[in-house]
Amino acid sequence: MSPHLDDAVFSCGAEISRWRREGPVLVINVFTDFSNPPPKTLAPLGRESRLQEERRASKRLSFESLLLNFTESVCRNWDYGSPSRLFWGEPFGSDRPLLAKLRTLLEEMIQAISFDLLVLPLAVGWHVDHLLCHNASESFHRHPQTLFYEDRPYALIPHAVSHRIRELGGSPDSAPFLGAWAAGWDAARTVNRWAPIQKGSPAFFRWVAQGVTPIFFTRLFRKSRTRWRTEPPAWVPLPEEPMADLELWLDAIMDYRSQADAFFPDRDSLRQAFKIPCRYWKAVPSAK
Ligand SMILES: [Zn+2]
Repeated sequence: MSPHLDDAVFSCGAEISRWRREGPVLVINVFTDFSNPPPKTLAPLGRESRLQEERRASKRLSFESLLLNFTESVCRNWDYGSPSRLFWGEPFGSDRPLLAKLRTLLEEMIQAISFDLLVLPLAVGWHVDHLLCHNASESFHRHPQTLFYEDRPYALIPHAVSHRIRELGGSPDSAPFLGAWAAGWDAARTVNRWAPIQKGSPAFFRWVAQGVTPIFFTRLFRKSRTRWRTEPPAWVPLPEEPMADLELWLDAIMDYRSQADAFFPDRDSLRQAFKIPCRYWKAVPSAK
């Protein structure tokens, strides 16, 4: 499941080419309607070019692509245009009907498919659309065939995965687990090297933005959002597999030019970030 066009390939592209050898791979893209964008958008949208990118990548990795055409966050509600709201981790109350609709649709659709593997987003990074996908697929979370992927590029931000896993009721395996303040500074050091900050102009903007990111991440890490209705599962990482084909994966990521450029200044910085193999998680009944 891919909240947006690109998430499945950014997060699981190397494995998609591996899984493809064993059978068909279907990518369910959820938020693919970009109509009614706000006047100033965070990322270049343009539906036709985004669909072209999807066609190119799906051809390269030979997966089937399905579009559910739910309206993407910033187009759905212009107030999501601010990063502090888009990544705050709690959908606005106005998204409640959408969550219910998505849940019903996914339950009907996934139950009708015979699958060997269902791969869902962990919603690392707290993008509101990723959280909606994660929450809407809840009835499949403990399914024996379900795996969770770490959403890239957000999962490349130091401590984002461990804080998300802890929030989901798991115990992060990465030691040491840093508190919000130290983790926030670490995260900011990485993100300040990414394109949105580095390409910021004038220099004054970059200077201010680099000062704000530690505060942004500290606040983000400090907030624990999940309130459990039932016993949380234990979250278990699967053993890492060797990287299937890094260059093919990078080619597929570069197919989503508008998105790759929004984060990484060039292919070398992309390679540097993505050479770490992806990790997958399972939600298993808690031993407690
Ligand atoms: Zn996304």
